[in-house]
Amino acid sequence: MPQEGETNHPIVIAGAGIGGLCAALALRRQGHEVVLLDKAARLAEVGAGLQLSPNACSVLDELGVLGDLEPHAFAPNFLQIHSARSNALLAKVPLGSFLKERHGHPYWVIHRADLQSVLLDRVSQTPGIDLRLGAEVQTLKSTPYNYLACEYRTGPDTHSLDCRALIGADGVWSKTRQLLPNHENARFSGQVAYRATLPIEQVPNRWTGDSGLWLHRDAHLVHYQIRGGRELNIVALATEDWKDETWSAAADKKALLHVFKDWPAEVRNLLALPDTWLKWALCSVNATGPWTHGHIALLGDAAHAMLPFMAQGAGMAIEDAAILGRHLPGDVANIPAALRAYERQRKSRAAHIQNRAFTNAQVFHYSGLPAMARDAVLRFSSPLQLAARFDDIYGWTPD
Ligand SMILES: Cc1cc2nc3c(=O)[nH]c(=O)nc-3n(C[C@H](O)[C@H](O)[C@H](O)COP(=O)(O)OP(=O)(O)OC[C@H]3O[C@@H](n4cnc5c(N)ncnc54)[C@H](O)[C@@H]3O)c2cc1C
Repeated sequence: MPQEGETNHPIVIAGAGIGGLCAALALRRQGHEVVLLDKAARLAEVGAGLQLSPNACSVLDELGVLGDLEPHAFAPNFLQIHSARSNALLAKVPLGSFLKERHGHPYWVIHRADLQSVLLDRVSQTPGIDLRLGAEVQTLKSTPYNYLACEYRTGPDTHSLDCRALIGADGVWSKTRQLLPNHENARFSGQVAYRATLPIEQVPNRWTGDSGLWLHRDAHLVHYQIRGGRELNIVALATEDWKDETWSAAADKKALLHVFKDWPAEVRNLLALPDTWLKWALCSVNATGPWTHGHIALLGDAAHAMLPFMAQGAGMAIEDAAILGRHLPGDVANIPAALRAYERQRKSRAAHIQNRAFTNAQVFHYSGLPAMARDAVLRFSSPLQLAARFDDIYGWTPD
């Protein structure tokens, strides 16, 4: 094993998604050399909207990228919650300036590609971070020569890279997770997210400004503006037993409209607007499973992929990165102990938010009496009471 503190070997991060890019910046701030490997040959513009709540923005502020993100972000003033069964407005939860004042950082929605490209620019401009694309991490080996070797593939070639530790930020289908004893695999949820974006000029005013959440039996709909307000992001979530590991499968618009056939006409008209719909199968990884083993640690979706019903998937990956950095100062003496401390600090929070997302998966899709009770609670709660339910999530800061 390497003598900790005596080697200048880099820390290797598998995956240049949102979590991996933030972890590279956080570890570099601590003085580590970082090699960031991603299996994608090009970090293409895939994906759609993500929520960046004040907890995530506090980390992005610390990493110095908040100003670069601002022109790409949109700050809705309210989340309007509707019942799609009765077509009634149930609640208006304050976001925007209210959350910024309450928690000290903005609440934004943003296109995943914009967030990734701002982080990528910052990583590329940071000496000491070596980004290699088309590089798929395979395994971490100990060697007889007092160091660790991360093996990765580029096309048919296998390479070996001396390193101090391997951070698996390689997403829900993580290969790094397979290296941990007693790991659990990702599980399909039986739910699917259909998504589309529209130029804002094509969107009736009814759908612009505030974000929206519509609830109905076995399905719900979310919409908000992204790209600095220039596009509307629409996500329609429904129960569907479809299993696929990609983020951008083509979706059948007719099938989508059939699922939403009982919905109010104005919603169906909105769903009919985009020509192209994509879909992805919602999966999760048990957050209480192992996150670390020796010199390996997981981060983000690799450790705790969650259903998007709390909109905290990216936020939790960003938080992980900040806390991992804090546990790994440049002169860290015992990396396995530091990684275990990171796991201890992060696990209960990730598991708690994952559980809340599981609960919402049921509550959002209630029918009959439970739906009526849910709607009554929303109707009779004050905006402040509704906002306060998120204080433990949004009020988090890395310190
Ligand atoms: C292409 C894509 C599109 C997405 N679109 C959306 C969206 O529209 N809305 C939404 O809410 N969430 C989306 N997500 C998920 C969202 O980004 C994550 O839930 C959240 O940001 C946590 O990010 P992460 O860094 O843990 O993982 P991810 O963002 O999933 O990043 C994982 C990265 O690891 C790389 N990788 C995987 N295996 C290896 C390996 N063996 N070696 C090296 N690199 C590897 C992948 O190429 C990817 O870049 C998307 C993810 C991806 C990868």
